[in-house]
Amino acid sequence: AFNFCAGPAALPTAVLAEAQEQLLDWNGRGVSVMEMSHRSPEFVSIATEAEQDLRDLLSISDDYSVLFVQGGASAQFASIPLNLSALGERVDYVNTGTWSSKAIAEASRYADVNIVASAEPNQFTTLPDQASWRCSDNAAYLHYTPNETINGLEFDWVPDVDAPLVADMSSTILSRPVDVSQFGVIYAGAQKNIGPAGLAIVIINKELLGRARQDIPTCMNYKVVAQSNSMYNTPPTLAWYFSGLVFKWIKAQGGLVAMEAINRRKADKLYKAIDTSDFYNNPVALNSRSWMNVPFTLADDRLNSLFVSQADENGLLNLAGHRSVGGMRASIYNAVPEAAVDALVEFMSVFERENG
Ligand code: PLP
Repeated sequence: AFNFCAGPAALPTAVLAEAQEQLLDWNGRGVSVMEMSHRSPEFVSIATEAEQDLRDLLSISDDYSVLFVQGGASAQFASIPLNLSALGERVDYVNTGTWSSKAIAEASRYADVNIVASAEPNQFTTLPDQASWRCSDNAAYLHYTPNETINGLEFDWVPDVDAPLVADMSSTILSRPVDVSQFGVIYAGAQKNIGPAGLAIVIINKELLGRARQDIPTCMNYKVVAQSNSMYNTPPTLAWYFSGLVFKWIKAQGGLVAMEAINRRKADKLYKAIDTSDFYNNPVALNSRSWMNVPFTLADDRLNSLFVSQADENGLLNLAGHRSVGGMRASIYNAVPEAAVDALVEFMSVFERENG
């Protein structure tokens, strides 16, 4: 079966196979990874290697700390303002969809949020042109969501702003190379392109450490987490271990340049199938379309459940759209092979012939 779930998403088959052997008996030590002390030399070697592999993949320099934290990306919606701004300080946000809206709502509890631009007037189908953004003169940072997982809207450019740039890359990280030096903070929930749920990764310019407000929960303080190598408290060891396997798998595919080529091909094939048919539709502007999450509708909504159930019978799993927007959504993260997209395109064509 091919799993098109938006998250927790498919893991590479090779990673699952390797983990199956190691999970219960790590390197013949007679213990599971889940049972090891996070401070044992064995786990510290797993953790260090995972961080180094991520640094290699994204060419992360020593100017940045890499943190492995709990609480998912949603906890970062609070951690960002608590770590980077003083109480009530001005912070800038771009609203491009469901996830940026949630980040804005959470930040508004702690800071003075200025929405510099919003794609809401066009129902989140087109990115607001940077020329129209109204940035604050003195924002502590500017937050945006490079890929909106639900709306299927993705930046194919990096904003150029004066304030430190903060990016929620949950559903696009590791899909292609990025220049980390353009960002103050990159964060991502793990459960799409990184590994199992329960872990989030924060890549932060060291100059931004030490700005947290006094009343921040200690385990959320980036400086404390960085100083303790992400082991201030017990980290999500199993998710960290799996993530390390995924990083090695991406390296073996040829790194992010190779992932980019594969992901571009996958997305092109799927959008082409949608665009060349009157039966399927994707409303997002051509230059703002997500490579990772492809929402689409059928000409007749009443066919939705038939489409999902027949797809499922054909081994094409989890194609129903998010409950807030309906329709269909195919999430085609790194672990979804090109063959899955080929199978989906073929199924869509047959379904259209039979029901169009
Ligand atoms: N940000 C984006 C872009 C997401 O896609 C998601 C979840 O799908 C989140 C944040 C929230 O992540 P979590 O469930 O790990 O809190």
